[in-house]
Amino acid sequence: MKILKFGGTSVGSAENINEVISILEKQSKQNNIAVVVSAVGGVTDKLLEAAHLACNKDLKYKQVYNKIWSRHNTVIEGLFENSQNDKSLQKNHEELHDLISEKLNELRSLLDGIYLINELSPKTKDKLLSFGEALSSTIIYHTLKSRQLDAILKNSQELIVTNSNFNNAIVNFEVTNDNIRSFFKSNSKSIVLLPGFVSKSVSGEITTLGRGGSDYTAAIIAAALDANELQIWTDVSGMFTTNPKLVKQAEPIVELSYQEAVELSHFGAKVLYPPTVMPVLKKHIPIVIKNTMNPDAIGTTITHEVAANGSPVKGLSNIDNIALLTLQGNGMVGVPGFSKRLFETLAHEKINIILITQSSSEHSICFGISASDAERAKEAIDSVFEYEITLQKIDPIVIENDLSIIAVVGDKMKSHQGISGKMFSTLGKNNVNIRAIAQGASERNISAVIHKNDVKKALNSLHEQFFEIKTKQINLFITGVGNVGERLLEQIKQQKAYVKEHFKISLRVAGLSNSRTMVVNDDGINLKNWKEQLHAGEKASLSGFLNHATNLNLRNSVFVDITANEAVSNIYGDYLKQSISVVACNKIACSGNIEYYNQLKSLSRKYNASFLFETNVGAGLPVIDTLSHLITSGDKINTIQAVLSGSLNFIFNNFNSDTTFYDVVKQAQDEGYTEPDPRIDLSGIDVARKVLILARESGHQIELADLETDNFLTENAMKADTVDDFYKTLSEDEAYYQGLYKSAKEKNCQLKFVAEFNNGKAKVGLQEIPEGHPFYNLKGKDNIVMFYTRRYPEQPMIIKGAGAGADVTASGLFADIIRIANN
Ligand code: ADP
Ligand code: ASP
Ligand code: MG
Repeated sequence: MKILKFGGTSVGSAENINEVISILEKQSKQNNIAVVVSAVGGVTDKLLEAAHLACNKDLKYKQVYNKIWSRHNTVIEGLFENSQNDKSLQKNHEELHDLISEKLNELRSLLDGIYLINELSPKTKDKLLSFGEALSSTIIYHTLKSRQLDAILKNSQELIVTNSNFNNAIVNFEVTNDNIRSFFKSNSKSIVLLPGFVSKSVSGEITTLGRGGSDYTAAIIAAALDANELQIWTDVSGMFTTNPKLVKQAEPIVELSYQEAVELSHFGAKVLYPPTVMPVLKKHIPIVIKNTMNPDAIGTTITHEVAANGSPVKGLSNIDNIALLTLQGNGMVGVPGFSKRLFETLAHEKINIILITQSSSEHSICFGISASDAERAKEAIDSVFEYEITLQKIDPIVIENDLSIIAVVGDKMKSHQGISGKMFSTLGKNNVNIRAIAQGASERNISAVIHKNDVKKALNSLHEQFFEIKTKQINLFITGVGNVGERLLEQIKQQKAYVKEHFKISLRVAGLSNSRTMVVNDDGINLKNWKEQLHAGEKASLSGFLNHATNLNLRNSVFVDITANEAVSNIYGDYLKQSISVVACNKIACSGNIEYYNQLKSLSRKYNASFLFETNVGAGLPVIDTLSHLITSGDKINTIQAVLSGSLNFIFNNFNSDTTFYDVVKQAQDEGYTEPDPRIDLSGIDVARKVLILARESGHQIELADLETDNFLTENAMKADTVDDFYKTLSEDEAYYQGLYKSAKEKNCQLKFVAEFNNGKAKVGLQEIPEGHPFYNLKGKDNIVMFYTRRYPEQPMIIKGAGAGADVTASGLFADIIRIANN
C-alpha cells in the first residue's frame, strides 16, 4: 500500500489534475493506493480572506466568493471539455456541476452568516476552511469516475478524530488508527481518495490540522496502515538545499534523515508540514517528495538510514515574520524561577516559541516568536511580572520586529568543526547583522535571527559557502563608462566564462551608470546590449545609484569608479558603510585630504569591505599591490624613484632640435596622451598625486602641499587664461624649451620627469638622466617604478611597462576586482 498526497498547485488546474490522474493510473496498477488531496491552490487563503472581510462587515467578501466560484468552475470546465460529444461524460459533468454548486451555495450561506453576526470564531473558521478540500476532492473523485478508474471517495473527517483545539487540532491516534484500519479493511477499491487537512473532534465538530496540514493527513494514514511509502507530490522536485524561490542555485537534496527533514521543515522549508514526519518515523516508512509537473525527477527520499558519506550541512531554511522579545533585569541574576514563569505564561497563551537564547550572565532571556503573537505575549508577560517591574527588578518586555530566522541544518554537523565559524564569518563578511543565535545540543541546527531584509542575501551567501564552494558571485556597480569603462565591460564579457571555470568566480554587472542615466538589474545586466539598456535607463544620480546598490543588498557587491569626478570620490565612504567594496580608477580620494583617505581606510577595515585603487599609479602595473605586499611582509621602504607620466614621457621622447615644443605637446594631446588641458600633465600635478599615493601607502601621513614640485613650465605658460593662450606661450618660449633639451644633450642625458620619495619627503621635477640609468631608455608611454627597501637596498625592485592606455587601465581594474573576489 502506498499513500500519495497532492498539494494545492498539483490540483490547481485541469492540466495539473490530468497529470495527477496519469500518475494515479500508473501507480494503482501496481499497488492499492490512498490519495490525499489539498484544496485547489490558493483557495484556502481566499476562504480566509472572504471570512475576514465578511466578519469586518466588508461586502467585498462577495467578490472573493465569486473568485472562488469561478476558480472551481474553470477547473471543472477544463476537465470535462470534451463532454459534449459523450452522453455519459455529459451526465457526469452535470452531476458534478450540481454537486459543486450545492457546496458553494452552502459556503455562501456560511459567509453571509459571518457577515450578519460579524464574528468569526475558531470553530466557524474550521467549518469554513473545510470547504476547500471538500470541493477539490469532489471534483477529482468525479473525474476519476468519469474516466473509469476504480475509485472511492472517503471523507477524512470520518476517520481522523481530534481534540477541540480548532485551527490546529491534536489527533487522537488510538481512535483514528482504528477508524482508518477498519475502513481500509473493508474497502475493495484500488484508489481511495480523501480530502486532506480536515478532521472531526470527539464531539463531532469539524476541526483542521493546521495550515499545510494535508501532508499530515497523508502521514497519519500511512502510519496507521503500515504503508510501504508516503509520497508527497508538490510543485518542486524535492526538498531543496534552501528555498528555491529565494536562491536560484538551490538544488534538490537526494537523501535526508527524518531528523534533518524535521529541522528543515520546522525552520521554514514549507514543502513539508513539520508534524508530518513523526507518525511515519516511528514505523520507518520512507517519505518521497516528488514533482507532479516533472514526475521523472528523482525528488527527495527521507528515511531512517542515510549514507554516511553525505555532506555535514544538508540544507538552509528561513522563517519570516519573527519578533524577538527580551526579558531582562538585574533582579533575574541567580534567582531561580524566572524562566519557568515566563514560559508558563507563553504556554498559557498558546504562544509557540521558535527560538530561545540566554547568556550565562542570566541577566536576560531572549526568545523568538511569530510577530503576530508579539503584542499578546508582551501584555501577558508584563502583567505576570508586574510586581518585579514596579520594583525595577526587571524591565518591561522589549519587542524587536521585522526579523527572520535562518538555520543551517545537518545531522553530521556535530562531528565537524568549523561549521558555525564558516556560517558567522560568511554572514559577517556580507554585513548581515545577527540579533540572536541558538544552537541545539543535538548540534543538528544552528539558527540566527537577522533583519528580514537580509534574508535573501544571507541564504544566497550561505548557500554559496556550503553548497557551491565552487563559485563566488561578485556583483559590480560600475559608474563611468567612457573609454576605460567600455574596455572593462568588454574584458568582463570576454573573460566571464574563463574566470568562472578556472577561478570559480562568477562576475556580474548589477548596475551601470554614466553622468546621464543609470540601470540596475538584480539578475545581472546582459552585456551584449548594455549600451541600449543604459541609454533607456532612469536619470542618473549618485545617491540613487547608491540606494539601488544598498536596496538590492547583493552579496559581494563592489562599486567601481571609472570617472575623474570629485563628487563620485566623495561617496566612497557611504558604499563602504554598506559593506560594499570600492575599486577606484579616480585618483581624487587617495590624493586629496589625508583625513578622508584615512577615513576610507578605516571604514574599509570596520565594514570588512575592500578599498582598492591599483590603477591610480601606473595604470595596470601592479605597483600599489606590490608595495602593500612588501610592507605587510615586514619590509620597509627607503626610497622610491619613478617615472609615472605617460604623457610627459611621450613629450620628452619626441622633443629634440628638429621639432618644436609646441608641435610635440599638440601631438601628445591629439593622440590622447594628455588631459584636455595639457597643463595638468605638464605642471607635474598628476605625477605629484601619484607619488603622494605611494608615500601614503608606504605609511607616511603627507599632504599634496608637503610635496616639492619643480615646475619646468615658464611663468608665462602657467599664467595663461585659456588652453589656446597656453599654446601661444609655448611658441613664444620655444628658445627656453630648446635650452632644456640642449643642456641635457650636451651631457649625453635624456630629459625625464621624475618622482622621488626619500626619507619621508617627496618631490617631482624634470631631471637630466645620464646614459646607463634605468630611466634613460624608457620608451613611449612606459612607466617605471624602483623600490629601494630594507630587503632591496642596492639593487631596487623594478616594475616597468605601459603606464597609460584604456586597455591596460581596464585590466588593472579587472585585477582589483579579482583581488576582492579572492579575498
Ligand atoms: P503544496 O501546495 O504542494 O503542499 P507548498 O506550497 O506547501 O506545496 O510547498 C512547496 C513550496 O515550498 C515550494 O513551491 C517552495 O516555494 C517552498 N519551499 C520553501 N523551502 C523549500 C525547500 N527547502 N525546498 C523545497 N521547497 C521549498
Ligand atoms: N489547504 C490547506 C492549506 O492551504 C492544507 C494544505 O494545503 O496542506 O493550508
Ligand atoms: Mg504544503
